[in-house]
Amino acid sequence: MEYIEPEEIEVDRPKGEVRVKWNDGHAGYTELTTLRWNCPCAACKGEMGQPGRLDFINTLHPEETRMSRLEAVGLYALKPVWEDGHETGLYTYEHLRDLCQCVACMEARPGKFKNRRLTN
Ligand SMILES: [Zn+2]
Ligand SMILES: [Zn+2]
Repeated sequence: MEYIEPEEIEVDRPKGEVRVKWNDGHAGYTELTTLRWNCPCAACKGEMGQPGRLDFINTLHPEETRMSRLEAVGLYALKPVWEDGHETGLYTYEHLRDLCQCVACMEARPGKFKNRRLTN
């Protein structure tokens, strides 16, 4: 299969979601809260078997789930800058696609999210 990448990305702040049209025709969306709960950076997610911050908290502050802007990183990832200043999470296109919450994706993988975080 060809390389999957976004063709159009729209951050809808009033609705609190990011909508993505992919080059394979898929159109989906991910809530900003879901995006933040799945921040892949070492501080949030942990690394090398060590838990990260997200493993120790049950709620996020509102400013942590509001996106200031979304930057492209090379041709493979996106970097959200959150209102609390956090910006170390690089979301590869593959990860972003995994986080799609459209009906088709949710039905294809029941139990995809547990406590808002992606299960493996
Ligand atoms: Zn993070
Ligand atoms: Zn989807």
